[in-house]
Amino acid sequence: MNSCPPGRRKFFRKLASLTCAGIMPAHVLEALYDATGHGNISDNHMGSQNSSKTAAFEPGYLELHRRGELRVRAEILWEMMSTCRLCPRECEQDRLRGQKGDYCNATSQLQVSSYNPHFGEERPLVGRNGSGTIFFTNCALLCVFCINWEISQGGAGRNVNIRRLANMMLELQRIGCHNINVVTPTHYAPHILFALDDAASRGLKLPVAYNTSGYERLEILHLLDGVIDIYLADFKYFDAGMADKYSPGAESYPEMARTAVIEMNRQVGVADPSANRGILQKGLIIRHLVMPNNVGGTGDLMKWIAANLPLNTYINLMSQYTPYFKAHEYPEIARRLTVGEYQNAVRAAYAAGLTNLDIQGA
Ligand code: SF4
Repeated sequence: MNSCPPGRRKFFRKLASLTCAGIMPAHVLEALYDATGHGNISDNHMGSQNSSKTAAFEPGYLELHRRGELRVRAEILWEMMSTCRLCPRECEQDRLRGQKGDYCNATSQLQVSSYNPHFGEERPLVGRNGSGTIFFTNCALLCVFCINWEISQGGAGRNVNIRRLANMMLELQRIGCHNINVVTPTHYAPHILFALDDAASRGLKLPVAYNTSGYERLEILHLLDGVIDIYLADFKYFDAGMADKYSPGAESYPEMARTAVIEMNRQVGVADPSANRGILQKGLIIRHLVMPNNVGGTGDLMKWIAANLPLNTYINLMSQYTPYFKAHEYPEIARRLTVGEYQNAVRAAYAAGLTNLDIQGA
């Protein structure tokens, strides 16, 4: 590995640390090294900034597919399911032997709730033909107010194999969707990469949007570097106590989400739809659901973003909070947002210096 250029050496050091930590078997690291031809991984996959202004956009996973690296990364993620640490819960269940995750309730059997063109996402994702959304069953964050609780915590969905998932991606492309939008992907990251590898070999060329709760581990994001073109990351809470209360046991959420969005920005940069006639091909979108009684810590969160990410980071300030699921058991979140609360959130974002806000009703 000494012949690697510095960027590649850094990547392999990262992978070696996963091996030392027992996350990745040594043979998988060796396979990755061999498959990439002495670290034949371009440095632009190791932290490239936004290049969406280039004339001919190509999603990052295509190059990884051609090099055989996409499949190797999928295998690395797959192995991790044997003592699962795909998400920050790190419950270490052996999903490969049929155990269910302590929080996500998922085995290694892929489950999908639905797939379709979706017109309710941000405008740069929807365009004319919709965002090609694939909703995965289960979620490890367990929010008590989840609007999709039947899917995320109720198990709604059906078993599908990886070939079928790849076919869904191709079908969404065929009907004109502008991207493949994988919703709640974290616990099925290995399956998604295998499916992308398959679909890439059969003509998939849409950008992939990783639509996540924001509760992500840095090591997993490193393995997604260059695979994911668009990150759609929730940033729900700024305060650990709030996270612990409303997403039970997830007191690490704010820390994980802070680290995650910094890494996502490093990988894909600021979302700039103007580079492609208003359709986003690459970049980070942060979604913050403004909640009653400032449960999300909006003001502090906006200040933190302004201090740690570009001021023109695309931020969707969402006003649609509705007390679904178990929210009625918590008086402070058992109502909708008031107009005044939402206006305060918008003021806080502008006061922090943020310039690229997606504001509802604007
Ligand atoms: S993804 Fe599921 S099984 Fe894996 S660590 Fe998280 S909760 Fe546990």
